[in-house]
Amino acid sequence: MIKADVLVIGSGISGLSYAIKVSEQLPDAKIIIVTKSDEDESNTKYAQGGLAVVTDSKNDNFNKHIEDTMRAGDGENKRDVVEMVVTEAPKRFREIVEWGANFDMKNGEFALGREGGHTENRIVHHKDITGFEIERALLQTAKSSPNIEILDHHYVIDIITQHHVPGKETERRRHPLLRRLYFG
Ligand SMILES: Cc1cc2nc3c(=O)[nH]c(=O)nc-3n(C[C@H](O)[C@H](O)[C@H](O)COP(=O)(O)OP(=O)(O)OC[C@H]3O[C@@H](n4cnc5c(N)ncnc54)[C@H](O)[C@@H]3O)c2cc1C
Repeated sequence: MIKADVLVIGSGISGLSYAIKVSEQLPDAKIIIVTKSDEDESNTKYAQGGLAVVTDSKNDNFNKHIEDTMRAGDGENKRDVVEMVVTEAPKRFREIVEWGANFDMKNGEFALGREGGHTENRIVHHKDITGFEIERALLQTAKSSPNIEILDHHYVIDIITQHHVPGKETERRRHPLLRRLYFG
């Protein structure tokens, strides 16, 4: 039987970045990533254009990005979610850079593209293979973490939790390592 403290399903940007963060915060936890195909197979790998993020504080700001996003969503999007995503984006982007992803530069600044719906240049990118570069860097970082193991060609069919097992206690229990992650 294979045991892990933290099981991550999927090796795209979500799964890899989560695994790397947990590994940094809980170096003594054993983290296993299971992924159904080759380890780099994901939507992430095929994303081309880039990431929309406010990095140019001279010409751009969070309000502009929020209003562009609301307009592009024709008001259907939830403003509080849009605000959270837009204001968190620079921090999340910096993490990806720290984990080794390269982005195109111009005169010492990020080279910014513009995409539909945006009123400012705010798309950071790596040529037109941004997702490929992010996947490469995150996989490399995950593989260099001694407490992350990747099991490729492992397909998750179902998740059986405590409350599925007859006779086992049904009270919600949190693994002590995760309690430390969430509550310090
Ligand atoms: C062609 C294309 C272009 C895009 N361009 C852009 C862009 O320019 N900018 C942008 O921001 N976004 C773009 N996107 C969207 C972006 O790629 C996704 O939103 C993002 O990659 C999602 O990341 P993720 O980690 O959530 O999912 P994914 O990258 O899809 O990762 C999911 C992982 O889960 C694994 N998995 C799924 N089911 C199972 C299972 N049952 N068992 C085990 N493993 C499983 C998969 O194999 C995969 O590794 C584009 C997407 C595509 C396809």
